[in-house]
Amino acid sequence: MHELSLTRNIVSIVSEKAQGAKVTQVTLEIGKFSAVLPDALQFCFDIVTKGTVAEGAELEIIETPGTGVCATCGTKFSLQQMFDPCPCGSTDIIRRTGSELNIKQMVTA
Ligand SMILES: [Zn+2]
Repeated sequence: MHELSLTRNIVSIVSEKAQGAKVTQVTLEIGKFSAVLPDALQFCFDIVTKGTVAEGAELEIIETPGTGVCATCGTKFSLQQMFDPCPCGSTDIIRRTGSELNIKQMVTA
């Protein structure tokens, strides 16, 4: 389960940033195509944060939509599927967003 190693990374970054303060909330931005399951992430977060400054913190997950730019005609459009073609029919797409995973915000007590 790759959510577990991801969560470990997130929690270690959060703990470092908190500098000993208690973390009460963490907001993550997860791209639609990042292949991360929010439920699994929540589950791992509860386990990984045990005994850390982020124990009991509320995890908020924001799913960011996929967007791409057509390399053929330059149209910017939103992607419902990873390999959606451009409305012009081209499949030569530069994906801009949708696969990122960012710590958007954290709140300390
Ligand atoms: Zn196009």
